[in-house]
Amino acid sequence: MVRTLALDCNKKIGQEVKLCGWVNTRRDHGKLIFIDLRDRSGIIQTVAEQGAKEVRPEFVIEIEGQVARRPKELVNQKLETGEVEVKAKTIKILNQAQTLPFPIDTPGLDIEEELRLKYRYLDLRRPRLTANLKLRHKVVNFARNWLDKEGFTEIETPILTKATPEGARDFLVPSRLQPGKFYALPQSPQQYKQLLMVAGFEKYYQIARCLRDEELRSDRQLEFTQFDLEMSFVTQDEILDVVERMFCAIVENFSQKKIFKKPFPKLTYNEVIKKYNSDKPDLRADKNDKKTLAFLWVCDFPMYEWDKTEKRWNSMHHPFTMPKLEHLKYLETEDLGRIKAQAYDLVCNGYELASGSIRIVDPAIQEKIFTAMGYKKEEVQAKFGHLLTAFKYGAPPMGGMAPSVDRFVMLLADEENIREVIAFPVSSSGQTAVMDAPSKVDEKTLKELKIKIK
Ligand code: ASP
Repeated sequence: MVRTLALDCNKKIGQEVKLCGWVNTRRDHGKLIFIDLRDRSGIIQTVAEQGAKEVRPEFVIEIEGQVARRPKELVNQKLETGEVEVKAKTIKILNQAQTLPFPIDTPGLDIEEELRLKYRYLDLRRPRLTANLKLRHKVVNFARNWLDKEGFTEIETPILTKATPEGARDFLVPSRLQPGKFYALPQSPQQYKQLLMVAGFEKYYQIARCLRDEELRSDRQLEFTQFDLEMSFVTQDEILDVVERMFCAIVENFSQKKIFKKPFPKLTYNEVIKKYNSDKPDLRADKNDKKTLAFLWVCDFPMYEWDKTEKRWNSMHHPFTMPKLEHLKYLETEDLGRIKAQAYDLVCNGYELASGSIRIVDPAIQEKIFTAMGYKKEEVQAKFGHLLTAFKYGAPPMGGMAPSVDRFVMLLADEENIREVIAFPVSSSGQTAVMDAPSKVDEKTLKELKIKIK
């Protein structure tokens, strides 16, 4: 017999079915044992007169039986399959399960994080987390189709690559074939997506994994996912329009939430700082109002910020960002703090959801940006020569943006921590879920890599 999913039993009243799944609950009523069976589609009640004695919660079982309509007074409104049940004839135990280390029928927020992450595969059985990951899948899938219809091409870019500064430390990967040399994991696909514009794709996107070695927070992980976008021959407003329409479509399709103001309000960096003393203000009147998404564009960010410890100018967005044309002249001066960039953020309910900018495509300007940041000429060539070269072969005007998948899904799912919408996140101390990395490697591996630990 082919397998039937729990939810499909609604359409099979009177028929014989085979169900497979986990024992969600088991209620022993003496002569009758009720087993609520859980599979990927949902939960269904089964009733057994025999063969259920050894069955325990979370056992993996196979049940054959007949779907029956429940008597009116026994209908369970809380279950999608609440009008039916399966009269079990045979029950086969496919695999046993020990008692779980924690309950999974609660939201689980009170359970110690370390324990939840150690057994993340069990934590993910929790309906709240299962729902979050399914929502995430739907949002990403929708975005893919939406971008496809808008003419974007999805292209994968390398994970083993060279440093692309996004303001964080790089994760390095030692090369075995070229001892002493390292790959960097991408802080973002920034340079590659610009090169794809030089290649002529005009509209690129990627559901991109970014890796940054920085401090962890409730809305920050060492690796995270962005809807990475890049476009050619566009104005800043055209880029904002694409992102705004995509976000509105996702909100309308996957939540009951209200968007505070449409079109999204747009303020300059100077205006938000003056008005709210923050570059990611929460515009909701009631900061606990979970039904409203208050999107806001913040534009004209400063090009550079002064790094007090390093005593140097760092780019506020990234060094591939184009300054405002009328501020280019300040590049030759000492006060780089005056330069505003063609850079913008999308903010929502106090979170930075996306950053982007119009890019530099003039190699001379790009070089000036680097030298203003204190890079020596040879250093610029060694680190970014490939990009400067590419700009000499017909680079179109371009710009883009990278909205965060994690933060957006977190807001849609009413969660307060991005770890709740990521399958296998790292803990607040940077330990990976289940697999316990970072971990030591053996001497032989280090030797092959010609690495000595001090
Ligand atoms: N690469 C940028 C970031 O990760 C986004 C962009 O400029 O498109 O924030």
